[in-house]
Amino acid sequence: MIIFKHSKDLKSHLKKIKANSVSVGFVPTMGALHAGHLSLMEKSKSETGVTVCSIYVNPVQFNNPDDYKNYPITLDADILLLEKSNCDILFLPDDKEIYPDEASKHQHFDLGYLETVLEGEYRPGHFQGVCMVVNKLLNIVEPTHLFLGQKDFQQSLVIKKLAGYKHKKLKIIIVPTLREQGGLAMSSRNMRLNDEEKKMATNLYKTLSHIKDEFHQANFHDLKKKAVSRLKRLGFIIDYLEMAKAANLEIIDEAPKSKGIILLIAAYLNNVRLIDNLIITK
Ligand code: AMP
Repeated sequence: MIIFKHSKDLKSHLKKIKANSVSVGFVPTMGALHAGHLSLMEKSKSETGVTVCSIYVNPVQFNNPDDYKNYPITLDADILLLEKSNCDILFLPDDKEIYPDEASKHQHFDLGYLETVLEGEYRPGHFQGVCMVVNKLLNIVEPTHLFLGQKDFQQSLVIKKLAGYKHKKLKIIIVPTLREQGGLAMSSRNMRLNDEEKKMATNLYKTLSHIKDEFHQANFHDLKKKAVSRLKRLGFIIDYLEMAKAANLEIIDEAPKSKGIILLIAAYLNNVRLIDNLIITK
């Protein structure tokens, strides 16, 4: 694996590779890597000629300064994991590389409705920050394929929208959420949970699965009401639990006859914010 810290060097290396018409897969991450990240790497390795992973904790996408301050950093372990998973290239930029001046931290992207609901509503400015860094990284790497996790479902819709404006040829592949044995969606933030909390956190996935299973017999409103009060009793602070159209995240509360329906949840467990989602109908 070759590690690049400067975009200029990475670009010139990739230029030589691309001259031979090799496809380039890109897996952007914020590090603290786990098996979920590696599943994206694996998918990229299987579908493209060269895989680039980036690790950069993007300050402008954190609407909560404490969340940024407490974000886990495990760079040495990350590099070992990437070596083991045969990653070809790791891009490790610093803040100056991504945001060379103040203006580059204040770009605006037209995301419309998508940044007004769910994560957009509860994390103001978050998706603008995501777009700033992803747009910058895509301009540097210029991959043919981009691999994203379903775990951050709304983020994947936002990035598809960004790509529609700025990176029209890019092929975006969404990789299913990898879970711990009890069903907890793998996440770098899980490192901030102790064993007991991790066990408790499995209730998010269990709740989504229960709603999915019970759907035919009960209406969403009642299922949601019961689920929210149960999770509150268990100690969760809930930002949202919603059902939406997967294509555009339009919130719905009727039993869906249509296809493409998804459940999404965000909740705090002892100050750690967790998100998850489950597709009800494809
Ligand atoms: P992050 O480092 O949290 O920014 O995540 C980097 C990429 O990994 C994003 O595309 C995430 O959606 C994806 N990802 C995070 N957790 C998982 C998971 N449990 N399963 C699959 N992909 C994931």
